[in-house]
Amino acid sequence: MPRIVFGKNQNVRTSTFYRPDLHNELKRIALLQSNGFKCPTICLGSRVATVNIETATVYLEDGTRLKADLLIGADGERSVVKAAFSDPETLRMAPYRIFRAIIPTEELLSNDKSKALLTLTKGSFAMFPHGDRTLSWFEGRDGLLQDLDLGYLLRPGDEPRGERDPSRAREKMLERFRDFHPDIVDVLRKTDMVADYEVYFNKPLLHLFKGKAVLIGDAAHSMFPTTGQGGSQSMEDAGALGSILSHLPSSSSLPERLRIFGKLRKERTATVQMLSGLIFGQEEGWVRRRPEHFIQRTGVRSGEDHLELLYK
Ligand SMILES: Cc1cc2nc3c(=O)[nH]c(=O)nc-3n(C[C@H](O)[C@H](O)[C@H](O)COP(=O)(O)OP(=O)(O)OC[C@H]3O[C@@H](n4cnc5c(N)ncnc54)[C@H](O)[C@@H]3O)c2cc1C
Repeated sequence: MPRIVFGKNQNVRTSTFYRPDLHNELKRIALLQSNGFKCPTICLGSRVATVNIETATVYLEDGTRLKADLLIGADGERSVVKAAFSDPETLRMAPYRIFRAIIPTEELLSNDKSKALLTLTKGSFAMFPHGDRTLSWFEGRDGLLQDLDLGYLLRPGDEPRGERDPSRAREKMLERFRDFHPDIVDVLRKTDMVADYEVYFNKPLLHLFKGKAVLIGDAAHSMFPTTGQGGSQSMEDAGALGSILSHLPSSSSLPERLRIFGKLRKERTATVQMLSGLIFGQEEGWVRRRPEHFIQRTGVRSGEDHLELLYK
Protein backbone atom coordinates (compact mmCIF):
# COMPACT_ATOMS: atom_id res chain seq x y z
CA MET A 1 0.00 0.00 0.00
CA PRO A 2 1.66 3.30 -1.01
CA ARG A 3 2.14 5.93 1.62
CA ILE A 4 2.57 9.61 0.88
CA VAL A 5 3.79 11.94 3.62
CA PHE A 6 3.77 15.72 3.25
CA GLY A 7 5.25 18.59 5.12
CA LYS A 8 8.43 17.11 6.54
CA ASN A 9 11.84 17.63 4.92
CA GLN A 10 10.28 19.37 1.95
CA ASN A 11 9.95 22.94 0.80
CA VAL A 12 6.19 22.58 1.20
CA ARG A 13 4.76 23.51 4.60
CA THR A 14 1.30 22.32 5.52
CA SER A 15 -0.60 23.03 8.72
CA THR A 16 -3.59 21.15 10.02
CA PHE A 17 -6.14 22.47 12.50
CA TYR A 18 -9.00 20.99 14.47
CA ARG A 19 -12.04 22.66 12.92
CA PRO A 20 -13.60 24.10 16.14
CA ASP A 21 -10.22 25.65 17.06
CA LEU A 22 -9.99 27.29 13.64
CA HIS A 23 -13.58 28.60 13.90
CA ASN A 24 -12.90 30.08 17.33
CA GLU A 25 -9.74 31.82 16.16
CA LEU A 26 -11.42 33.22 13.03
CA LYS A 27 -14.26 34.51 15.21
CA ARG A 28 -11.81 36.11 17.65
CA ILE A 29 -10.02 37.89 14.80
CA ALA A 30 -13.29 38.95 13.16
CA LEU A 31 -14.42 40.62 16.38
CA LEU A 32 -11.19 42.52 16.95
CA GLN A 33 -11.74 46.24 16.47
CA SER A 34 -9.04 47.64 14.24
CA ASN A 35 -8.25 50.87 12.38
CA GLY A 36 -11.33 52.59 13.76
CA PHE A 37 -13.76 50.28 11.93
CA LYS A 38 -17.02 49.38 13.59
CA CYS A 39 -16.90 46.00 15.34
CA PRO A 40 -19.03 43.51 13.37
CA THR A 41 -22.16 41.97 14.90
CA ILE A 42 -22.70 38.23 14.55
CA CYS A 43 -26.41 37.36 14.34
CA LEU A 44 -26.75 33.64 14.99
CA GLY A 45 -29.91 31.77 13.99
CA SER A 46 -30.79 34.43 11.39
CA ARG A 47 -31.73 32.49 8.28
CA VAL A 48 -31.56 34.43 5.03
CA ALA A 49 -34.68 33.87 2.91
CA THR A 50 -33.66 35.87 -0.14
CA VAL A 51 -31.35 38.67 -1.29
CA ASN A 52 -31.35 41.48 -3.84
CA ILE A 53 -27.88 41.69 -5.35
CA GLU A 54 -28.57 44.97 -7.19
CA THR A 55 -29.28 46.84 -3.94
CA ALA A 56 -27.19 44.65 -1.54
CA THR A 57 -30.28 43.90 0.53
CA VAL A 58 -30.81 40.78 2.63
CA TYR A 59 -34.27 39.57 3.71
CA LEU A 60 -34.26 37.29 6.74
CA GLU A 61 -36.87 34.60 7.31
CA ASP A 62 -38.16 36.53 10.36
CA GLY A 63 -39.00 39.49 8.09
CA THR A 64 -35.98 41.64 8.97
CA ARG A 65 -34.46 43.61 6.06
CA LEU A 66 -30.74 44.53 6.09
CA LYS A 67 -29.09 46.83 3.56
CA ALA A 68 -25.41 47.53 2.93
CA ASP A 69 -22.95 48.78 0.29
CA LEU A 70 -21.79 45.25 -0.57
CA LEU A 71 -23.14 41.76 -0.01
CA ILE A 72 -20.47 39.07 0.57
CA GLY A 73 -21.99 35.64 -0.08
CA ALA A 74 -20.04 33.25 2.18
CA ASP A 75 -23.07 31.01 2.64
CA GLY A 76 -21.75 27.69 1.40
CA GLU A 77 -22.39 25.50 -1.64
CA ARG A 78 -26.18 26.04 -1.55
CA SER A 79 -25.69 29.79 -1.40
CA VAL A 80 -28.76 32.03 -1.52
CA VAL A 81 -26.53 34.83 -2.83
CA LYS A 82 -25.16 32.60 -5.63
CA ALA A 83 -28.73 31.62 -6.59
CA ALA A 84 -29.55 35.33 -7.05
CA PHE A 85 -26.86 35.56 -9.76
CA SER A 86 -29.23 33.41 -11.92
CA ASP A 87 -26.28 31.64 -13.59
CA PRO A 88 -26.74 27.94 -14.51
CA GLU A 89 -26.56 25.72 -11.39
CA THR A 90 -23.83 23.07 -11.80
CA LEU A 91 -23.70 21.68 -8.23
CA ARG A 92 -23.60 17.86 -8.35
CA MET A 93 -23.22 15.05 -5.81
CA ALA A 94 -19.89 13.25 -6.35
CA PRO A 95 -19.72 9.43 -6.68
CA TYR A 96 -17.45 9.62 -3.66
CA ARG A 97 -18.02 9.93 0.09
CA ILE A 98 -15.89 10.42 3.19
CA PHE A 99 -15.95 8.83 6.63
CA ARG A 100 -14.49 11.08 9.30
CA ALA A 101 -13.42 10.21 12.82
CA ILE A 102 -11.25 11.69 15.55
CA ILE A 103 -9.18 9.70 18.02
CA PRO A 104 -7.43 11.27 21.05
CA THR A 105 -3.70 10.68 20.50
CA GLU A 106 -3.22 9.22 23.98
CA GLU A 107 -5.40 6.24 22.99
CA LEU A 108 -2.80 5.30 20.38
CA LEU A 109 0.26 5.73 22.58
CA SER A 110 -0.22 2.55 24.65
CA ASN A 111 0.30 0.29 21.64
CA ASP A 112 3.73 0.09 19.90
CA LYS A 113 2.23 -0.40 16.42
CA SER A 114 -0.17 2.52 16.56
CA LYS A 115 2.53 4.59 18.26
CA ALA A 116 4.81 3.86 15.29
CA LEU A 117 2.11 5.04 12.89
CA LEU A 118 1.94 8.36 14.72
CA THR A 119 5.52 9.14 13.71
CA LEU A 120 4.30 9.37 10.09
CA THR A 121 1.97 12.25 10.80
CA LYS A 122 3.82 14.16 13.50
CA GLY A 123 3.89 17.81 12.40
CA SER A 124 2.52 16.77 9.00
CA PHE A 125 -0.07 14.53 7.41
CA ALA A 126 -0.01 11.26 5.49
CA MET A 127 -2.17 9.65 2.82
CA PHE A 128 -2.64 5.90 2.29
CA PRO A 129 -4.26 5.30 -1.11
CA HIS A 130 -5.48 1.74 -1.76
CA GLY A 131 -7.69 0.81 -4.71
CA ASP A 132 -10.83 2.97 -4.70
CA ARG A 133 -10.20 4.31 -1.18
CA THR A 134 -7.75 6.69 0.50
CA LEU A 135 -7.07 7.23 4.17
CA SER A 136 -5.81 10.75 4.86
CA TRP A 137 -4.45 11.09 8.37
CA PHE A 138 -3.98 14.50 9.99
CA GLU A 139 -2.84 15.79 13.33
CA GLY A 140 -5.11 18.19 15.19
CA ARG A 141 -4.81 20.47 18.21
CA ASP A 142 -0.99 20.45 18.20
CA GLY A 143 -0.86 16.68 18.15
CA LEU A 144 -3.44 15.95 20.86
CA LEU A 145 -5.94 14.59 18.32
CA GLN A 146 -5.67 12.29 15.30
CA ASP A 147 -8.09 13.22 12.53
CA LEU A 148 -8.93 10.41 10.08
CA ASP A 149 -10.51 11.17 6.72
CA LEU A 150 -11.45 8.02 4.78
CA GLY A 151 -12.51 8.72 1.21
CA TYR A 152 -14.25 5.98 -0.79
CA LEU A 153 -15.70 5.73 -4.26
CA LEU A 154 -19.30 4.57 -4.34
CA ARG A 155 -19.84 0.97 -5.45
CA PRO A 156 -22.96 -0.65 -6.93
CA GLY A 157 -25.41 -1.29 -4.08
CA ASP A 158 -24.22 1.62 -1.91
CA GLU A 159 -27.00 3.75 -0.43
CA PRO A 160 -27.52 6.99 -2.38
CA ARG A 161 -27.00 9.04 0.83
CA GLY A 162 -24.39 8.91 3.58
CA GLU A 163 -25.22 7.01 6.80
CA ARG A 164 -26.57 9.47 9.40
CA ASP A 165 -26.26 7.13 12.42
CA PRO A 166 -22.66 7.42 13.80
CA SER A 167 -22.51 3.80 15.07
CA ARG A 168 -23.77 2.34 11.79
CA ALA A 169 -21.40 4.66 9.90
CA ARG A 170 -18.54 3.20 11.99
CA GLU A 171 -19.56 -0.35 11.06
CA LYS A 172 -19.70 0.64 7.39
CA MET A 173 -16.25 2.22 7.63
CA LEU A 174 -14.70 -0.86 9.27
CA GLU A 175 -16.20 -3.07 6.57
CA ARG A 176 -15.14 -0.86 3.64
CA PHE A 177 -11.54 -0.42 4.91
CA ARG A 178 -11.04 -3.94 6.33
CA ASP A 179 -8.33 -4.85 3.76
CA PHE A 180 -6.06 -1.94 4.77
CA HIS A 181 -2.87 -2.79 6.68
CA PRO A 182 -3.78 -4.59 9.96
CA ASP A 183 -2.10 -1.86 12.05
CA ILE A 184 -4.30 0.73 10.39
CA VAL A 185 -7.43 -1.40 10.84
CA ASP A 186 -6.56 -1.68 14.56
CA VAL A 187 -6.47 2.13 14.72
CA LEU A 188 -9.83 2.37 12.94
CA ARG A 189 -11.32 0.06 15.59
CA LYS A 190 -10.42 2.68 18.21
CA THR A 191 -12.90 5.14 16.68
CA ASP A 192 -16.09 5.90 18.52
CA MET A 193 -18.39 8.15 16.48
CA VAL A 194 -17.98 8.21 12.70
CA ALA A 195 -19.56 10.67 10.23
CA ASP A 196 -20.30 9.68 6.63
CA TYR A 197 -20.18 12.84 4.46
CA GLU A 198 -21.61 13.24 0.99
CA VAL A 199 -19.42 15.31 -1.32
CA TYR A 200 -20.70 17.97 -3.71
CA PHE A 201 -18.81 19.93 -6.33
CA ASN A 202 -19.52 22.41 -9.07
CA LYS A 203 -17.77 23.61 -12.19
CA PRO A 204 -16.06 27.02 -11.96
CA LEU A 205 -18.76 29.72 -11.89
CA LEU A 206 -19.35 32.19 -14.70
CA HIS A 207 -19.27 35.12 -12.25
CA LEU A 208 -17.69 35.65 -8.85
CA PHE A 209 -19.40 39.04 -8.52
CA LYS A 210 -22.52 40.62 -9.92
CA GLY A 211 -24.30 43.88 -9.08
CA LYS A 212 -23.42 44.66 -5.45
CA ALA A 213 -22.60 41.09 -4.44
CA VAL A 214 -19.46 38.94 -4.39
CA LEU A 215 -19.05 35.22 -3.65
CA ILE A 216 -16.34 33.62 -1.54
CA GLY A 217 -15.74 30.16 -0.07
CA ASP A 218 -17.84 27.17 -1.10
CA ALA A 219 -20.46 29.55 -2.52
CA ALA A 220 -17.81 30.50 -5.10
CA HIS A 221 -16.04 27.17 -5.59
CA SER A 222 -17.39 23.93 -4.18
CA MET A 223 -14.74 21.25 -4.77
CA PHE A 224 -13.57 17.74 -3.87
CA PRO A 225 -11.89 17.56 -0.47
CA THR A 226 -9.08 15.28 -1.79
CA THR A 227 -6.45 18.04 -1.80
CA GLY A 228 -7.81 19.75 1.36
CA GLN A 229 -8.36 23.03 -0.45
CA GLY A 230 -12.02 24.06 0.12
CA GLY A 231 -11.38 25.86 3.38
CA SER A 232 -7.88 26.92 2.34
CA GLN A 233 -9.19 28.65 -0.79
CA SER A 234 -11.95 30.27 1.29
CA MET A 235 -9.30 31.86 3.47
CA GLU A 236 -7.32 32.97 0.43
CA ASP A 237 -10.56 34.60 -0.86
CA ALA A 238 -11.07 36.40 2.46
CA GLY A 239 -7.45 37.58 2.52
CA ALA A 240 -7.64 38.85 -1.07
CA LEU A 241 -11.00 40.57 -0.51
CA GLY A 242 -9.82 42.19 2.73
CA SER A 243 -6.77 43.57 0.99
CA ILE A 244 -8.57 44.71 -2.19
CA LEU A 245 -11.35 46.45 -0.26
CA SER A 246 -9.02 48.27 2.11
CA HIS A 247 -8.49 52.05 1.76
CA LEU A 248 -11.63 52.41 -0.33
CA PRO A 249 -12.10 56.15 -1.08
CA SER A 250 -15.88 55.75 -1.53
CA SER A 251 -18.47 53.11 -2.41
CA SER A 252 -18.29 54.27 -6.05
CA SER A 253 -14.88 52.53 -6.25
CA LEU A 254 -16.48 49.17 -5.41
CA PRO A 255 -17.18 47.96 -8.99
CA GLU A 256 -13.53 48.45 -9.99
CA ARG A 257 -12.29 46.74 -6.82
CA LEU A 258 -14.63 43.78 -7.43
CA ARG A 259 -13.33 43.51 -10.98
CA ILE A 260 -9.78 43.27 -9.58
CA PHE A 261 -10.93 40.62 -7.09
CA GLY A 262 -12.54 38.57 -9.89
CA LYS A 263 -9.43 38.83 -12.05
CA LEU A 264 -7.20 37.76 -9.18
CA ARG A 265 -9.28 34.87 -7.87
CA LYS A 266 -11.17 33.38 -10.82
CA GLU A 267 -8.26 31.64 -12.54
CA ARG A 268 -6.64 30.52 -9.29
CA THR A 269 -9.78 29.02 -7.76
CA ALA A 270 -10.84 27.42 -11.07
CA THR A 271 -7.46 25.67 -11.35
CA VAL A 272 -7.46 24.45 -7.75
CA GLN A 273 -11.10 23.35 -8.10
CA MET A 274 -10.52 21.39 -11.32
CA LEU A 275 -7.49 19.61 -9.82
CA SER A 276 -9.19 19.01 -6.46
CA GLY A 277 -10.22 15.41 -7.19
CA LEU A 278 -6.68 14.23 -7.93
CA ILE A 279 -4.78 12.23 -5.36
CA PHE A 280 -1.30 13.67 -4.88
CA GLY A 281 1.22 11.54 -6.74
CA GLN A 282 -1.17 10.45 -9.50
CA GLU A 283 -0.77 13.61 -11.62
CA GLU A 284 1.69 12.07 -14.11
CA GLY A 285 -0.78 9.29 -14.91
CA TRP A 286 -3.56 11.81 -15.51
CA VAL A 287 -1.33 13.84 -17.83
CA ARG A 288 -0.43 10.67 -19.82
CA ARG A 289 -3.86 9.06 -20.00
CA ARG A 290 -6.38 11.95 -20.03
CA PRO A 291 -5.67 14.32 -22.95
CA GLU A 292 -9.02 16.07 -22.36
CA HIS A 293 -8.48 16.72 -18.63
CA PHE A 294 -8.08 20.25 -17.27
CA ILE A 295 -4.61 19.32 -15.93
CA GLN A 296 -3.28 19.62 -19.51
CA ARG A 297 -4.05 23.37 -19.39
CA THR A 298 -1.92 23.82 -16.28
CA GLY A 299 1.80 23.47 -15.71
CA VAL A 300 1.15 20.64 -13.22
CA ARG A 301 2.95 17.47 -14.31
CA SER A 302 3.74 15.82 -10.97
CA GLY A 303 2.71 15.72 -7.31
CA GLU A 304 5.53 18.18 -6.53
CA ASP A 305 4.18 20.65 -9.14
CA HIS A 306 0.71 20.28 -7.66
CA LEU A 307 1.92 21.04 -4.13
CA GLU A 308 3.93 23.96 -5.43
CA LEU A 309 0.78 25.36 -7.08
CA LEU A 310 -1.23 25.02 -3.87
CA TYR A 311 1.26 26.16 -1.29
CA LYS A 312 3.75 28.45 -3.05
C1 LIG B 1 -15.52 15.64 4.54
C2 LIG B 1 -14.91 16.97 4.22
C3 LIG B 1 -13.56 17.19 4.46
C4 LIG B 1 -12.99 18.43 4.18
N1 LIG B 1 -11.66 18.62 4.44
C5 LIG B 1 -11.08 19.82 4.19
C6 LIG B 1 -9.69 20.06 4.47
O1 LIG B 1 -8.99 19.18 4.93
N2 LIG B 1 -9.18 21.27 4.20
C7 LIG B 1 -9.93 22.30 3.68
O2 LIG B 1 -9.41 23.40 3.45
N3 LIG B 1 -11.24 22.11 3.39
C8 LIG B 1 -11.84 20.91 3.63
N4 LIG B 1 -13.17 20.70 3.36
C9 LIG B 1 -13.92 21.79 2.74
C10 LIG B 1 -14.38 22.83 3.76
O3 LIG B 1 -15.14 22.23 4.79
C11 LIG B 1 -15.23 23.88 3.05
O4 LIG B 1 -14.59 24.31 1.87
C12 LIG B 1 -15.45 25.09 3.96
O5 LIG B 1 -16.20 24.71 5.09
C13 LIG B 1 -16.18 26.18 3.20
O6 LIG B 1 -16.44 27.24 4.08
P1 LIG B 1 -17.59 28.26 3.77
O7 LIG B 1 -17.60 29.19 4.94
O8 LIG B 1 -17.46 28.82 2.41
O9 LIG B 1 -18.94 27.39 3.74
P2 LIG B 1 -19.62 26.58 4.91
O10 LIG B 1 -18.63 25.99 5.82
O11 LIG B 1 -20.63 25.68 4.23
O12 LIG B 1 -20.40 27.71 5.75
C14 LIG B 1 -21.52 28.36 5.21
C15 LIG B 1 -22.28 28.98 6.36
O13 LIG B 1 -23.39 29.70 5.82
C16 LIG B 1 -24.55 29.38 6.57
N5 LIG B 1 -25.73 29.54 5.70
C17 LIG B 1 -26.00 28.88 4.56
N6 LIG B 1 -27.18 29.27 4.07
C18 LIG B 1 -27.66 30.22 4.92
C19 LIG B 1 -28.85 30.99 4.96
N7 LIG B 1 -29.79 30.90 4.01
N8 LIG B 1 -29.01 31.85 5.98
C20 LIG B 1 -28.09 31.98 6.96
N9 LIG B 1 -26.94 31.25 6.99
C21 LIG B 1 -26.73 30.39 5.96
C22 LIG B 1 -24.35 27.94 7.03
O14 LIG B 1 -25.15 27.66 8.16
C23 LIG B 1 -22.85 27.93 7.34
O15 LIG B 1 -22.61 28.37 8.64
C24 LIG B 1 -13.77 19.47 3.63
C25 LIG B 1 -15.13 19.25 3.37
C26 LIG B 1 -15.70 18.00 3.66
C27 LIG B 1 -17.17 17.77 3.37
